[in-house]
Amino acid sequence: MIPHSLPTLGREELSAVSEVISSGCIAQGKKVEEFERQFSQFIGLRRTAAVNSGTSALHLALIALDVKAGDEVVVPDIVCTALLNAINYIGATPVIADINGDDYNLSYNDVKRRSTKKTKAIILPHMFGTPSRETERFKDMGIPVIEDCAQSVGGKIRGRNAGTIGDISIFSFYATKVFTTGEGGMLASDSDDLIDKVVNLREYDNKDDYTTRYNYKMTDIQGAMGIEQLKKLPEFISKRRRIAEYYHMVLNDLPVKLPMFSSEVEGIYYRYVICSDLAQELIGFLRSNGIGAAKPVFKQLHKFAGLQKGNYPVADNVWRDSVSLPIYPKLSDAEVEEIAKSTRFFFR
Ligand SMILES: *Cc1c(COP(=O)(O)O)cnc(C)c1O
Repeated sequence: MIPHSLPTLGREELSAVSEVISSGCIAQGKKVEEFERQFSQFIGLRRTAAVNSGTSALHLALIALDVKAGDEVVVPDIVCTALLNAINYIGATPVIADINGDDYNLSYNDVKRRSTKKTKAIILPHMFGTPSRETERFKDMGIPVIEDCAQSVGGKIRGRNAGTIGDISIFSFYATKVFTTGEGGMLASDSDDLIDKVVNLREYDNKDDYTTRYNYKMTDIQGAMGIEQLKKLPEFISKRRRIAEYYHMVLNDLPVKLPMFSSEVEGIYYRYVICSDLAQELIGFLRSNGIGAAKPVFKQLHKFAGLQKGNYPVADNVWRDSVSLPIYPKLSDAEVEEIAKSTRFFFR
């Protein structure tokens, strides 16, 4: 089976990690600091703080923005449950909004409709590697924006890096994300106030005052991996773009909707999502031919029991019709050709 996703790891990560282990200093230390510094340079924001997951980064971002129990936080219907978890950790209320039918990102018009005086933050995930072209409009609403770049690190919005427009941004380095430290996350912002709060919440020991803090630290083993992976990120992204262009060329004349190639944003093709009314059959066909096609998200958020009822017409259609084809730097040319050929064969 060609897996749906795989990390790309090499000798560089192996020797960086074994160097840390030999040193005996394996907790958060110099390597994490160096990773934070290099990530800050890469993204173009003054301040960064590494943590142990993207979910932890979201949790700390919400606290730093002073979101409290009972406040509302907006999220899209098509995203993983990590966002709900972070909101529920602080007892806030998720407000689920619909998405756009073209870029599959949070819909500005629907957020306007559903936000209230109690809305204290918007979590804006740049989904599937395509940054939201509406990021500036969300920012202009006057509600704090957390840019969730877990799937879009390295993407651009009208020339600006994804993650540099909102108030604070978060990243995930989980094993199957764009680059990885196994588990891991990062917060980034130009605001000293926000990142100082995050760092204070992360370091619980040796403090004069007591407040509830969170042991969300990244280890130097992960930091060392992060440094090596970040060096390879430009190469990872160009490989993803090459595969996306190939799929685009080969699948162009099929009766499917291909991902948007927009002039306003530069995507990194974390996922290659196609839409077809034969989605379920296509996934079954590809899987029986050894290709790990999948739904791009497990389930729409509003479909989890007990969550918001209401109308999500665009998300409903996108979820029903979507198929995520394998796309990652480790795929060989032969595998990429096989995936495209099998997809064509299904529609013959
Ligand atoms: C993976 C992901 C997260 C959560 O990151 P973890 O490191 O797995 O906690 C948050 N948001 C989005 C959009 C993601 O894809």
